[in-house]
Amino acid sequence: MLFRIILSSLAFNLVIAQEKIQYNVMELLGKANPEFYNEKIPMIKEAGEAFVNMQKEALKEGIKIKIVSGFRSFNRQKQIWNRKFRINKMNGLSPQQNLLKIIEYSTLPGTSRHHWGTDIDIIDGNKTVSGDVLLEKNFHGDGPYVKLRKWMDINAKRFGFYRPYNNNPKRKGFKYEPWHYSYAPIAIPMLKAYVKLKFKDQIVQKDLEGYQYLNQNFLAKYKREHILGISNNLK
Ligand SMILES: [Zn+2]
Repeated sequence: MLFRIILSSLAFNLVIAQEKIQYNVMELLGKANPEFYNEKIPMIKEAGEAFVNMQKEALKEGIKIKIVSGFRSFNRQKQIWNRKFRINKMNGLSPQQNLLKIIEYSTLPGTSRHHWGTDIDIIDGNKTVSGDVLLEKNFHGDGPYVKLRKWMDINAKRFGFYRPYNNNPKRKGFKYEPWHYSYAPIAIPMLKAYVKLKFKDQIVQKDLEGYQYLNQNFLAKYKREHILGISNNLK
């Protein structure tokens, strides 16, 4: 009887402990400085450990998984956003066209999964590719990263990694990104915490290009289709 009581109280404590997993606003918005696994693997520790295990397995097949982008701060994302906005503007796009063009592949600062230290963009470091490496054609057809993608299709989930922006035609939001992976055991609870945030004031700031056009409608749709327009494996 006593044993049973101890057991049930243990289970109870475990549930409480899980519910206590909390992420602060700064972490969720990319404004914290998380401790990385190491310099070459800019992910939070648990995700980095899983990544290293996956990397070792892939290496046995001659694939060298290389991170080209891991953690990205709010400020870095803002630079990317503002740069793209200015270029698109010079090319004659209207503000509305401009926003839609940027969010094909890039996020509003404060809404990137790269802010969490759980997400990475990867290539095969054994292949030499000139120019932009993160292009769909490099991962399909006779592209240099096809072997990597196929290996990841089969094996990534064993290590907790999934593609948020898959090529399911029913998915809305960001375009297909065969290079982008999320570490699900942490990215899922982070997303749950994230969607509860009221993030408008954190994002719509005057030093963000195009901020005047980020109205309630735009942001509601962006949340529904872009932030939540991800693989069901990550929800
Ligand atoms: Zn990415």
